[in-house]
Amino acid sequence: MNVKVDKNGYYGNFGGAYIPEMLYPNIEELRENYEQITEDAVFQKQFQQLLKDYVGRPTPLYHAERLSDKYGAKIYLKREDLCHTGAHKVNNTIGQILLAQRLGKKKIIAETGAGQHGVATATVCALMGVECIVYMGEIDMARQKPNVERMRILGAEVRPAKSGSKTLKDATNEAMRHWINNPSDTHYIIGSVVGPHPYPEMVARFQSVISAEIRKQLLEKEGTELPDYVIACVGGGSNAAGAFYNFYEDNDVNLVAVEAAGLGNDSGESAATTVLGKPGVLHGSKTLLMQTEDGQVVEPYSISAGLDYPGIGPVHAHLFESGRAQFHSVTDEEAMVAGVELSRLEGIIPAIESAHAFAALEKMEFKPSDVVVVNLSGRGDKDLETYIKWGKY
Ligand SMILES: *Cc1c(COP(=O)(O)O)cnc(C)c1O
Repeated sequence: MNVKVDKNGYYGNFGGAYIPEMLYPNIEELRENYEQITEDAVFQKQFQQLLKDYVGRPTPLYHAERLSDKYGAKIYLKREDLCHTGAHKVNNTIGQILLAQRLGKKKIIAETGAGQHGVATATVCALMGVECIVYMGEIDMARQKPNVERMRILGAEVRPAKSGSKTLKDATNEAMRHWINNPSDTHYIIGSVVGPHPYPEMVARFQSVISAEIRKQLLEKEGTELPDYVIACVGGGSNAAGAFYNFYEDNDVNLVAVEAAGLGNDSGESAATTVLGKPGVLHGSKTLLMQTEDGQVVEPYSISAGLDYPGIGPVHAHLFESGRAQFHSVTDEEAMVAGVELSRLEGIIPAIESAHAFAALEKMEFKPSDVVVVNLSGRGDKDLETYIKWGKY
């Protein structure tokens, strides 16, 4: 199947760059330069070196025997939870900070919802000694106090977005406004495979190290590079895009994307975009989007802050529409149960985002010979309070 981005930034019917004219020069500068810069041998050498020595890559591909027994398949976990800062997000922020340097940008801005992308951005800015401003909704700042303080310890300035619902979309608007006003010295680090072209493809390429490693590691362990299934959770979709990227053209590899159904897809409290969404434009790209009849964005809900997003990256809208990936949705309760199950069977407490991917195992049927890779996108330390509040363990 062709999942390549075309020259206008489309995956099938989705993608593109729907931006205000004021932003055009910034996006154009990126579009014209990102491939040449990131494919350059010196860039790649520095990127790979940092992934190895700073992030701790390659992350292990771990055969989870007790989990395998339970579900009747050979299940491997891709351990992105062991990355520095506790999740896959840092793969992308390392790539983008190196890109920003090559573009001669002296300052970094980012937006963050739950704070995880803000922390990953503040981390690489500290690493490179670059000024960092993170926009965050005022309500999110109150809800995610520890991440606000992490960013501050790392030397970033956290600026509250005080308009609208005071959450992620307002922080995104503020970041865009900042960028329009400071185009020449500032790079905007987007945290998932969303936003105007070339961001979705650029972020996917930085994250594609995940599936590149899976192929190598499976060859060593199974004598073949190809699993039968790759399962990953989807918020914006960057960990999933990274885990799928090098398998798009291997049609025997089943790609499984898992969205958050919150309190249930009929409850009005969900974030399952492929179930509830319709085509629309969000954050600069055409994609599937949860919206009202007249096109107002519907506030999503999930127990997991990282999946609480009203859209999905355009590549996932295309994977859904074309049938190349199957999509499941998982409720808060199912995810929490799966998170505790992984903790008890394997001694690994997952991020609640990642727990959604594990909950899909329950909804699937396997043959004993099936090789299944679950992308364990992050660790559960940040979610301890949510586990405690849920309490059923
Ligand atoms: C942010 C986050 C996600 C969701 O983001 P994607 O871009 O969909 O990967 C998933 N898992 C963890 C641990 C996260 O921090």
